[in-house]
Amino acid sequence: MKVAIIGTGYVGLVSGACLAELGHQVTCVDVDAEKIAGLNRGVIPIYEPGLEELVKRNMGYSRLRFTTSYGEAIPEAEVVSIAVGTPSAEDGSVDMSYVKSAAEEIGKNISGYTVIATKSTVPVGTSEMITAIVKAQTDCDFDVVSNPETLREGHAVFDFLHPSRVIIGSSSPRASDVMVHLFAYLDCPKVVTDPRSAELTKYAANAFLATKISFINEIAHLCEEVGANVDAVAKGIGLDPRIGKDFLRAGLGWGGSCFPKDVLALSKLAASLDYPLPIVNAAIKTNAHTRERVVRRLEKALGSCAGRRIAVLGLAFKDNTDDTRESAAVAIIRDLHQKGAVVRAYDPVAKVTAEQVGHALHHAASPYGAAEGAEATVIATEWDEFRNLDLARLKNAMQGSVLLDGRNLLKPEEALRHGFTYIRVGRK
Ligand code: NAD
Repeated sequence: MKVAIIGTGYVGLVSGACLAELGHQVTCVDVDAEKIAGLNRGVIPIYEPGLEELVKRNMGYSRLRFTTSYGEAIPEAEVVSIAVGTPSAEDGSVDMSYVKSAAEEIGKNISGYTVIATKSTVPVGTSEMITAIVKAQTDCDFDVVSNPETLREGHAVFDFLHPSRVIIGSSSPRASDVMVHLFAYLDCPKVVTDPRSAELTKYAANAFLATKISFINEIAHLCEEVGANVDAVAKGIGLDPRIGKDFLRAGLGWGGSCFPKDVLALSKLAASLDYPLPIVNAAIKTNAHTRERVVRRLEKALGSCAGRRIAVLGLAFKDNTDDTRESAAVAIIRDLHQKGAVVRAYDPVAKVTAEQVGHALHHAASPYGAAEGAEATVIATEWDEFRNLDLARLKNAMQGSVLLDGRNLLKPEEALRHGFTYIRVGRK
């Protein structure tokens, strides 16, 4: 099938490359001319395992193209997917300006029956909104469906090609058939429902997962108080199939480009309808507290953070990605800067700007470089590289001995054996 993807970011680029891999003819459009020029030269703008090979292979087969021109991509397409950003507006609601402008361009450029599928995470009612925008631009026949994306950064290619389900929210049987056909090669349930339910499904999934993480972090904080071990508790409850073991890792809380903005958007939506969501709101509060608590524990170990040299290992919001949006590491560094600490950081792929962390940040070339002369080291992202740190070398590089393992990656007895004052989440 001929497919156009509008927005070539984490979701759009992965979706485009994977749909091409499934045999479709895909054109990815973006307003960022530099990004498109780079892609046309084979430069992949994001770090995502397996993506580069997939993009290059499918460009080589002429099944994947990149352009800034809607006119080149849309008229021929049977399906146009919207994968532009939907960031938080200042009041926490969703900034829909990118979706609206994509819808307008789609309306101007379709040339016959087209299915417009929204992959971006969008508020309930967006399908109707896009329908109205497109209708104002064209007399062509079209349907709008909600097709929320469920991939995880760091595993995006695998997730797209092996999803647990594909959600199709449509009020048109014709459009549902087109979408089922588009994903025919994916061996998973296709959940066909109405657009509003599909739109809400995405927010409900993210809010549930975020709540699960906040819950285990609350239990972790209680473990620290009562002298229990959250890893043991998580294992004990996770083996109950009604609970499940995923998303029970205590740490620095949830971050990234999705959970924070989506959970907030859901809370705002409910509040605007005079139906506040107490569980979701509590999950947000616990998440903020989780990050503050870790800095407080560090302060307690050091006496104060002012003037202290602190190494932070990890900048990305999770492993296997260069995405630092709403990363716990970024929030912690910003907090440390405000408290007067001197921070050096290391991440295998991610970088942050001074604007993100409130101060110019030294990016070291290795964990040991970041730890040089540090009084404390904080592990903030669960990169495998940090699981396998040379603890003797790290300790040697540091001036102090405080090691705060915010992701519970290390074996406590190993850290203690190397002379660290070792602090981990959910353990006294
Ligand atoms: P992103 O910021 O990485 O990419 C968005 C892209 O859209 C950018 O390249 C931008 O230049 C482009 N763009 C903006 N306006 C445009 C327009 N009018 N026409 C063409 N291109 C335009 O965002 P992302 O992380 O890929 O997220 C996209 C959407 O998918 C969001 O709604 C997000 O919530 C949702 N989502 C993201 C993930 C994830 O893991 N990143 C997972 C599931 C869903």
